Amino acid sequence: MEFRPEYCPCRDPQCAADGFQYQRRGSFTRACDGRRVQRFQCKRCHRTFSTQTFRVDYRLRRVSLDVKIFAALISKVTQRQIAKTFHCKLKTVERRIELYGKQCRAFHEWCMRRRSTSTPWEGQFQLDELETFEHNRRLKPVTVPVLVHAPSYSILHAEVGTLPPRKPLSRANLRKLALLDKEERERKSESRVMMTRCFEVLSSVCDPAAPVSVGTDEKHTYAVALRRIFGARLLHQKTNSKVPRSYRNPLFPVNHTFAMLRDNLSRLVRRNWGASKKRGRLERHLWIYIAWRNYVRPITNRNRNQTAAMVAGLCPGMLEISDLLQRRMFDFGRAQPRGAESF
Ligand SMILES: [Zn+2]
Repeated sequence: MEFRPEYCPCRDPQCAADGFQYQRRGSFTRACDGRRVQRFQCKRCHRTFSTQTFRVDYRLRRVSLDVKIFAALISKVTQRQIAKTFHCKLKTVERRIELYGKQCRAFHEWCMRRRSTSTPWEGQFQLDELETFEHNRRLKPVTVPVLVHAPSYSILHAEVGTLPPRKPLSRANLRKLALLDKEERERKSESRVMMTRCFEVLSSVCDPAAPVSVGTDEKHTYAVALRRIFGARLLHQKTNSKVPRSYRNPLFPVNHTFAMLRDNLSRLVRRNWGASKKRGRLERHLWIYIAWRNYVRPITNRNRNQTAAMVAGLCPGMLEISDLLQRRMFDFGRAQPRGAESF
């Protein structure tokens, strides 16, 4: 089907307000894959753009690596190893994490908004915090609160926040601490802020009148934040964190999600060199995993025809990794590309 641009990629709202009009303006052949690309020009602002402007592989050269790098990132392969295996630069992998992370987050958030509140969410939501670190386990711990929809195992939201250094510190670590800049030396706990953000996302997608069932461990701050956000609608099930983490544990869905994260993301595998160096990258990498877990991976190894997102009502069908990497879902700040409905 012929591509028709739905809006002007410039950020000027006037182009949309006047009724977007464009004209064709020649075409060119892409050197990296030989694809013919149609160019357009906006009749109001005269900006030129092309079909590529609306695609995730806009300005990418090694397009044959798109799906391969994505697949490696959710298969416990470190960035450096991906670069070696696919004969590309480490910077290429780093840039793909940025790009795919943004794309996956925008796509998931769009699916969450699209999911109508007229079909009520069923079952419990669960939240817990995964602890990891950036660079140094004791000096720069990081908390990752993750919100899971228990019946579908869909990951609805995740945040990344700092934690203060874990004391007592060894002499060597004290020396390293003194060398850090002030902001890092006095790292604060962002646990409460980030966990609250997760619950606010939950509140934004739930029916404002219906009861909300949430399962957490017995951490006091969860109960406080939940009561403040959901008030009398809240059904809060607390589970002691000493209860064995078996299938019978009420928090099994979120515990299992963490086990899968530790197994699938190289940077979360315990005691290995792939540990995160920058928490911003960890966040992007998490969104790549979330999109894959929810929309691409079959919900279980036995049930191959359904994804977590299908059970949760977030997406009507199974997607491939290449589907996630088609239409650019971010960076335009305005209406999402209309073709995205076909997902
Ligand atoms: Zn324009």
